[in-house]
Order: sequence, then C-alpha cells, then structure tokens
Amino acid sequence: MNETVRLETRIGADEAAAGGVLTIDLAALAENYRILCQTAAPAGVAAVVKADAYGLGAARVVPVLHEAGCRDFFVAHLIEARRLAAIRPRDSRLYVLNGLLPGGEAVCANIGAIPVLNSLDQVQRWSALAIARAMTLEAVLQVDTGMARLGLSLAELQALAADPAALSGIRLTMIMSHLACADQPGHEASPTQLSVMQAASAFFPGLPVSFANSAGVFLGPDYRGALARPGIALYGGAPTLAGNPMRPVVRLDVRVIQTRTVPAGTAVGYGGTHVTTGETRIATLAAGYADGLPRSLSNRGAAWFDGVRLPILGRVSMDSLMVDVTALPAALPPGALVELIGPSQTLDAIASDAGTISYEILTALGQRYHRHYAFPASRASGQGQS
Ligand SMILES: *Cc1c(COP(=O)(O)O)cnc(C)c1O
Repeated sequence: MNETVRLETRIGADEAAAGGVLTIDLAALAENYRILCQTAAPAGVAAVVKADAYGLGAARVVPVLHEAGCRDFFVAHLIEARRLAAIRPRDSRLYVLNGLLPGGEAVCANIGAIPVLNSLDQVQRWSALAIARAMTLEAVLQVDTGMARLGLSLAELQALAADPAALSGIRLTMIMSHLACADQPGHEASPTQLSVMQAASAFFPGLPVSFANSAGVFLGPDYRGALARPGIALYGGAPTLAGNPMRPVVRLDVRVIQTRTVPAGTAVGYGGTHVTTGETRIATLAAGYADGLPRSLSNRGAAWFDGVRLPILGRVSMDSLMVDVTALPAALPPGALVELIGPSQTLDAIASDAGTISYEILTALGQRYHRHYAFPASRASGQGQS
C-alpha cells in the first residue's frame, strides 16, 4: 500500500467512526471576506476569530483569510492570542478584545498581541510595563458607547485625553466601540451609539476608528470607521434580521444508527415527553447535546433527508436524538447521513428552532464530528481533508 492509499484509508476510517460529518467550506469563507470588503470599502476589514473562529478552527481559518487579504485578527481572551501567536502570519496584527486582566500584561507584550484597553486601570498597567521595559507598546482604546459591557466611559476618555502622561509608552493605533443592537435595522440605539462614538473620537483627533461588527457593516457608511470587525458573517451567519447575503460555510450531516417502527402510544426518549399518535418509524441519529445540538431542540427542530422534514421526537440525549422518518418513501439504512445544517436547513433556521442564535450553534459544535475542510482552489494542493 503506498502512502496516499494508506492516508485515504485512515481518513475513511475516521469518517466512518464519527457520528457525523462537519463540512467547512473555506472557499465560501474567503468569498464572504471579499463580500464584506466590497460592502465596507473604503474601510478595511478585520476578522474576529475568537472562540476558535466561532468553532470552525482558527488554525484553518486564519491562513485562508490572510490569503484573502486580511491582516487584522481579533480574539477575546489572552489565552486565545497565546495559542494563535505561533501560527499567525508575521505581517498580521492580533488584538485581544477583553483587554488585560491583572498579571496578563507581560504575556500580551511577549507575544506581540495588541490589547484593547477597556479601563483606566488597564491603561495604567500597560503603560507601567512599557515604561519598565523602556519600550513602546501598541494598544487600542475602547469606549463604552452604550452597551455597559467593556470600555471607558466618555468622561474617563475625556480625562485621559487631557492627561497625555497617563499614556506614556503606549502608542494608540485605534479607538473602538461595539454596537449592541446593530442586527435590528432601524433600532434607535445604533444612531445614539454612533453619536457617542463621534464625541469619543473627537477627543483623539486623527486616531482611526473601529466600530462595526458584521451587522454594523450593513448599517451604512457612518458605522464602518476605518476598520470593520465582522465575525459571524464570515462564517455564513445572517448579519442582520433583514436577510443573509453571505455564503453558507458550514454543513452538518449526522448518521442514522438504527431505525424502528413503533405503534401508537409509544413514549420516545428520556421522560417520555413525546408519545406517538399513530404507527411511527423512528430513526436514532448519532449526535446529541454533547455534540452541540442544544437540548432545547427537544420536540422542536428537525433533520432533513432528500428535501423531507424529519421532526425531532422527544428529548435530545447527550449522544443521540430521535427523528420521525415516517414521511420518507424508503427506509433509511444504518450509516445514512441526514442533514442538520445545509441546503434544506440553514444555520440560522436551526438556531431559531433551538431558541438561540447562529453564534451559539457554531461555537458549541462538538469535537466528535469528522471535520472535512474544503479549501479554496488556490490552497487545494495536498490539503483536502483533515
Ligand atoms: C464578537 C465581537 C465582534 C464580532 O461580532 P459579529 O456580530 O460576530 O460580527 C466584533 N467586536 C467585538 C467587540 C466582539 O466582541
């Protein structure tokens, strides 16, 4: 057996051993980056790759976005920056949205990450490190424009602007804020936040502004600033409630373990929360809440096969769930793949059935699926699968 055949055998075995196949279309990811660049222009477009690129694998996502032209990457936690530091392209910048917890300053500086400074205390500690090391450290300043999550108040920002010594050793590269209601077009909070952002920006004239997340990119030119920070839209989620111009990136298919036909009056799953009303053919699928299919899909969502909706029956278990396959014209053999996310059911549709958002579905996707990465043509050589 030559190397290639041996490799294929190994991949095939992994795929057969998994309860489902998660297909991640990196060409669609790159296309989404281009769509966002076109929409945001002349603003630049960063990529938010926190939570392992929304669950899709930052180690795969970052190089593809870099090749598409992205040079600015945002994570949330310093530990994420640490894990990405070794693999990120040298000509890229890596920002830490949650800023600096006490004790994190040296690590942040050592890996060359740029903290988003969210409080005067963080400014003070970053400046102290710069002075102690007799070097200049870059930073982004965040202002809270109306979300009460992270960032300096307008008053704190004004005080800081009036006291340049407080920024000793720090070179500010941007001022940023985050929109709370941008996914709801026409929401009154967005223009209010924009006016606070404009007031904040006036304290630091000439400093580039970063404001828009995915939804903000579609709110119009006023919101885009110099550098937009989309996350979910890159990964195919709908940026706003108004619709979804993005390409789907994720497809999830799960295997049938076994099927059975039961009479009317049969209780299905833990707690017997579904009782059949007629003879019913049930398929048990090899994924559950430990694989990121929320328990809130119990008796609510569906899987799909060949355009036929297969309603979820009873509670979602840890490792499996049951669906009603009575409507299918032919039996589903063990090992057959049914769709959870794909052409029949969008990411946003399953999220809505689960009473949550696309972000939570993506970031919860489990580690037990076989992951198939489809690479853009430019990167195709030798990297078909993982
Ligand atoms: C997560 C996050 C983003 C990306 O938001 P999306 O809605 O996924 O585009 C941008 N900025 C900040 C501060 C964030 O926390």
